[in-house]
Amino acid sequence: MRKYVIMGPQGSGKGTQAGLLARGFDLVHISVGDIFRWHVQNRTKLGTRIQRYMNEGRLVPDEMVSDVVKWRLDNHDWRHGFVLDGFPRNAAQTEFFLENYDIDAVIAIELPEAVAIERIQSRRLCSSCGLDYNLIQLRPHIPNICDNCGGRLVTREDDTPQAIRTRLLEYREKTQPILDLLREKELIVTAGLYCMVPRVLDALRLFPEDTGE
Ligand code: AMP
Repeated sequence: MRKYVIMGPQGSGKGTQAGLLARGFDLVHISVGDIFRWHVQNRTKLGTRIQRYMNEGRLVPDEMVSDVVKWRLDNHDWRHGFVLDGFPRNAAQTEFFLENYDIDAVIAIELPEAVAIERIQSRRLCSSCGLDYNLIQLRPHIPNICDNCGGRLVTREDDTPQAIRTRLLEYREKTQPILDLLREKELIVTAGLYCMVPRVLDALRLFPEDTGE
């Protein structure tokens, strides 16, 4: 059983990397941001409560986040483990997480803020199927049209300049400090942006695999 967490500032491509890791190890990719976006799109009760936080680039209050994570992990729908993307993001979430779940490693993607901003601004999302694009590295074949379903590509609602600044500030102030705590617990594997997947896969193979649940 492999249980990993992936962390990195907005624009670090953690969702994409998490997907690749999930495929590499046959894990379930759990993205808290995706679950939240689903709630917003489907106008659920939770969606209406969290939409403003997300659009402004602020962290959603902890009790709503922990409930969603607990509900999702209680599903136990994996055979070989999971890669959790977007949680924990502050001290309270880390405490809750470490108390309730065993994890094998935290993969931290590092990149300078200026690069993160450039990457966020080049990010597009299919308005129909939700596939992610990046106008620097992962362009659609026809401009603004999704390769997968022909849907229109749009900017994420929370990718406005103000929301980007807020998200990066939240990361620097609230998420970065927990990396030190996780580092003390020897759970961290760090990686730069471009050599991420092969290096991380190699590094994780060196981690002893947990054989229990
Ligand atoms: P992401 O897709 O990971 O960039 O997340 C999108 C947005 O969802 C964030 O900007 C937050 O508003 C919210 N969010 C995702 N994960 C968390 C979390 N662990 N704690 C609080 N808010 C979160």
